[in-house]
Formats: sequence, structure tokens, C-alpha cells
Amino acid sequence: MKTRPIQVLIIFLLLLTCFTAMCGCSQKEELSFETTYAIDADLDPEMRHMAYTETIEIINTGSGSTKTLYFHIYGNKFKGLRQVENGDIVVLSVQDQDGNALQWQREQEGVLYCVELAQKLEPEQTIELTFACEILIPDLESMYGVSRDGDVQLPMFSLQLAMYDQNGWDTAPLPENGDGRYGAAADYNLTIRVPETYILACNGDELSRQTSDGITTYSYRAEKRRDIMVFACKDYVLLERTVGSTAILGYFNETADNVTRQRMEYVMDCAAFSLEYFNSIFVQYPYDTLVVTNSALGTNFSPNMEYSGLITVLFGSEQISMKINTFHEVAHQWFYGLVGNDENQEPWLDEGFSDFATGLCLDAEGNIDFPYWELKDIASNGAADEKVNVPCDEASVYQWVIYDRGAMFLKTLMDAVGKEKFLTILSNYCQRYQYSIATTESFLEILHEGTDVDISNIVAEFIK
Ligand SMILES: [Zn+2]
Repeated sequence: MKTRPIQVLIIFLLLLTCFTAMCGCSQKEELSFETTYAIDADLDPEMRHMAYTETIEIINTGSGSTKTLYFHIYGNKFKGLRQVENGDIVVLSVQDQDGNALQWQREQEGVLYCVELAQKLEPEQTIELTFACEILIPDLESMYGVSRDGDVQLPMFSLQLAMYDQNGWDTAPLPENGDGRYGAAADYNLTIRVPETYILACNGDELSRQTSDGITTYSYRAEKRRDIMVFACKDYVLLERTVGSTAILGYFNETADNVTRQRMEYVMDCAAFSLEYFNSIFVQYPYDTLVVTNSALGTNFSPNMEYSGLITVLFGSEQISMKINTFHEVAHQWFYGLVGNDENQEPWLDEGFSDFATGLCLDAEGNIDFPYWELKDIASNGAADEKVNVPCDEASVYQWVIYDRGAMFLKTLMDAVGKEKFLTILSNYCQRYQYSIATTESFLEILHEGTDVDISNIVAEFIK
């Protein structure tokens, strides 16, 4: 068919419309950022108060521009299961590097903050925002606050730039089940002043500590971490182990129930064994320190918990439980810490992997007394028809689907592929996604690259 000038013009206009529409769609994927966090804080545990400023340097490394930025304060989720009066981490003001006071909106009970910039942040531009914040520290219900033994735990109290992925900004409400965190690895500097009677534990490396006029100033740096937190206690007993170039630093509140010297040593040994073992099969743990503390006792429950370079272990249960919990939290240093994931949308990538790694660690230790895999298998069969790669709140029974069935998927794959091959696959996965974000697809791609065995039935059984 021959075309006349008018037809050419129409085709040109149509193509232009399509092109514009495509740009509109793909623009969503073209924001990405690099961030550095600097926090300056005054903590007064007796007054249950912390005031801090947080300066966040944000570089727009994408090709799109934005006038709106979103931030998470995950500590506001961790502060308790029910709303604690005066227990919030509160933003008082936000300003940019030019001194402009910026508008912001607090959403989702303080878990999400939306900040309007004075001008659009263009590609390759850098902006520096300073937040002034205050915390009236509540009783510790589970992970955040002042425990009944007087420990102060402030995990993830700071603002973190929300993730921006193919779906746009991550502003999804946090789930009822699970932790729901989703953050990029970033560098943190923390300076914090506290009365000298307190000892601080932090997931960062301690750069300096100076005391004058009854106040101790601690300075920390945490590189390529998913989060920063600080714990304070008057009665910490300090223990240490060395694994390769990492110092495992134990901070245990010896006045708390069940925290005996024998249990502290036991947990430190478990942490050292698992760190060394995971170093040998995944990738080398890259940080100078791993901090291990006892879970402070809350008014509700006290969980074993992982942060980037710090774990809490619940004391008082059976020794085998303390061992399994320590192995599991140390495994999270790889799955969640080094290899990040969206804990809301695909929690099996950190919980299932960590439970699987725990089983490997028990096997490596020569465990024959505890039927770990058998128990996982039974629990997994409790949710036999369910897929593991589902969001937190879509699993019928969170523990069975995400932890147990997630671990049994990996165990079933290992049995089919062969242990040596499968460990190489996991090591490749860790290397490729270290400091980055992995998805189920990322894992399956590396899995298929690493084996010729037909695993399609296994994948179909466990993955949607
Ligand atoms: Zn876990």
C-alpha cells in the first residue's frame, strides 16, 4: 500500500503517542538512589527519652526525577503489638541543605513518611535532608523500648529511604505476620551520647568512646547495612570470640532472668560455629563485628531477632532451642542482611533460607539427637498444597508455609541436585546478590544455571 503525506503524518502522530505512553510506563523504573545516613543522638534511658537529628544524603542515580520521597521508620512497627501511648518515634521537622523547611506527611502510624521537596530531584543530583526527631521510649513489649530489666532496645529507630522498584515506591502497609522490612544496603554514621553508667551495643563498628562530665560519647560506622540500632544497658557482661577477621561481641544483661554465664558461653560458641560454617559455604561475612545479645524481656513476648550485624537470642529455653535460634539468626546475616529481599512480599527468601541453613549447620555439627528435618517435614506437610513464594499475610499458617515449607523446598532441591552442587548454587546466589535485592526469580535463575537435573516438578510443587 502506498502512503500519502497525510497518512505519514497520522502514523507519525500514532508512533509519537505510543512512544510517549511507553516512556510514561517505563519512567516508573527509572528512579534509583544511593543514600548515606548520619545520626547524632542524645539518649537518656532514665528519662526514657532520645532526641536525634538524622541527615540523609540522597543521590538520584536513576534517569527519572521526583519531587516526592518516601521514608520508613520500621521502629514504629516494632514498638509493640498494640499502640503504645507516647511510644512513637516522631519527626519534628525536615529541612534541605539550603535551609528550606519541607512539608511532610506521617502515614501508617508513623511507619511511613512522605516528604515534598522544594524542587524536583533530577538525575545525578544530590540532596541532603535533615530530620529532627524525638522518641519517648515506651515499655518494651517485644522488640522496642525499655525492658523490665532496664535494658533499652532501639532497633531501626531511624528514617530509611523507602525502596523504589518496578512497582514504584514501596508504600505497602506492613504485614500482620513477619517483619515486613525492605531496604537497600547503605552506610551509616552514628554519634550518640548516653550517661556513663550505661554501656551501648550497636551493630556498627565502634570508632571511638570518650567520657566527660558523666556523659559517654560513642561513635560508630556501619557500612553496607540494611539498618542501624542501638541497645543500652547498665549491666552488660561482655564476651568475645574471633572467627577469621570477625570479632563476635557478646553483650548480655546478667541481671535478666535465665542469663547465666554457662548460657552466655554456650550461645557465643553456637554463634562462632555457625559463622565459621556459613563463611565456608556461602560468602565470607564481610563485617568486622557480629554483636550477640540476649533478647530483652518484654511485657508481651521476646523474640529471637536479626539485624544487620546484630542478633538477639532468647535465653531460658532448652539448650537445643537456643542453639537452633542462634544458628537461624546468624544465617539471617546472609539471608536478609547480605542478600536483601522484600520481607513483606517474599518472606520465604529470608525465613525459609535461614531455616534451611540452620538444618545444614546442625548436620555439619554432627547432630544426630534432634530430628530437625523430620520436624520441618511434618510442619511443611501441614500446608502441603501451598506455595512458598507468597506475601506474609497470604500464608494460611505463616510459620508452616514461610519457614518450614520454605526450608523443605530447598532441602528437596538439595536432595535432587546433590549437596555439593546445591551449595555451589547457594554460594553463587550470595555472591551475585550481596548488598543487593534478590527475588524468587533471581534464585530460580541461578538454580537452573547450576544444574542439569530436571527439577521442574519440585519447582512446580512449591513455587507459584
Ligand atoms: Zn528468622
